[in-house]
Amino acid sequence: MSEVVKSFAAHSESSPLAAWEFERRDLQPNDVAIEIRYCGVCHSDLHTARNHWGRTQYPLVPGHEIVGVVKAIGREVSKHAVGDWVAVGCLVDSCQTCGSCHDGEEQYCEQGSTGTYGSLDRYGQPTQGGYSSAIVVTEHFVLKMPETLDPAGAAPLLCAGITSYSPLNYHKVGPGVRVGVIGLGGLGHMALKFAVAMGAEVTQFTTSENKKAEAERLGAHHVVLSTDRTQMKAHFGQLDLIVDTVPVPHELKDYLLCLKRNGNLVLTGPIGLQNPPLNNGLLMMGRKSVSGSAIGGIEETQQMLDFCAKNGVTCDVEMISMDYINEAYDRLEQNDVHYRFVIDMATL
Ligand code: NAP
Ligand code: ZN
Repeated sequence: MSEVVKSFAAHSESSPLAAWEFERRDLQPNDVAIEIRYCGVCHSDLHTARNHWGRTQYPLVPGHEIVGVVKAIGREVSKHAVGDWVAVGCLVDSCQTCGSCHDGEEQYCEQGSTGTYGSLDRYGQPTQGGYSSAIVVTEHFVLKMPETLDPAGAAPLLCAGITSYSPLNYHKVGPGVRVGVIGLGGLGHMALKFAVAMGAEVTQFTTSENKKAEAERLGAHHVVLSTDRTQMKAHFGQLDLIVDTVPVPHELKDYLLCLKRNGNLVLTGPIGLQNPPLNNGLLMMGRKSVSGSAIGGIEETQQMLDFCAKNGVTCDVEMISMDYINEAYDRLEQNDVHYRFVIDMATL
């Protein structure tokens, strides 16, 4: 049976998020119904709620860093049982037949994957995210939460975690590799922790002088204040891979100069047109490349959760109550979070 759930939703780009009730779909044979216990607050939630990308349909319930407990399963579900701790990230469905889905990279589904919020599900209903009391998700897209991980600290792994893990994993980061991370926020602090746990030598770039000691505490071998050109110049020609997590347009030139021959700069923030424009001479000299990366597939996300359990990696979180969300968005926009807000959904 369908269920009416409580949530916090955005009703327009300028109004604060507010309490709202809506119906989740009926439990289908392959569906898992989850009682949501924790939900992380991603910068993408803010971009979407405030319509920064110009395509938000309201009302919209954000939230794609979901951890909870299974409360019901459809008759064909075999992977999960009632009472299990599980997780849901940014994806809730995909075609399951194209080459990308076949390769376990559902985030690059050739038919377009279904986002946890802001998409239409296969029944034509708008998907709504994790700032809600419960969610219904087809079982393939439900992850198993390792028992040893603190569920609140693990919630941001479902987006910030996998988005930073995937490019490091793809580029085979390990001992002997020199990695740079730009921005010490939700994604950035996880990229730093993962690269350190993988054995790399890590340089953290930050615009915030006051985050230097924090970056060192989190394991950075070098910390560079990116607004200081002298500090930047000292790192030119040093790095194999840089993961850029900055959410706004910014100049890439000095970061490309920090790469070694064959180095790669991976953009994870959807910053759109380069401003100022990128001079391709910076790429030619040293056969460098700029690439992008979006979250990760379901198999890789499970691998990342298991990596975290094995290596004791979780996110540094600030727990908040649901009614603090609008203040949390303002603080996120002002770069004032260390390093992820997580909503205790018992407060909804
Ligand atoms: P966040 O927590 O706000 O962190 C962003 C960090 O970037 C800040 O902590 C800050 O670090 C730095 N920064 C902020 N404003 C800046 C500016 N004007 N100039 C230079 N640096 C600035 O955001 P997040 O949740 O990590 O998300 C980062 C971006 O990734 C967002 O745009 C989000 O939508 C996107 N995202 C993409 C994917 C994907 O699949 N590719 C997934 C999730 C999120 P310092 O203070 O250290 O400079
Ligand atoms: Zn996200």
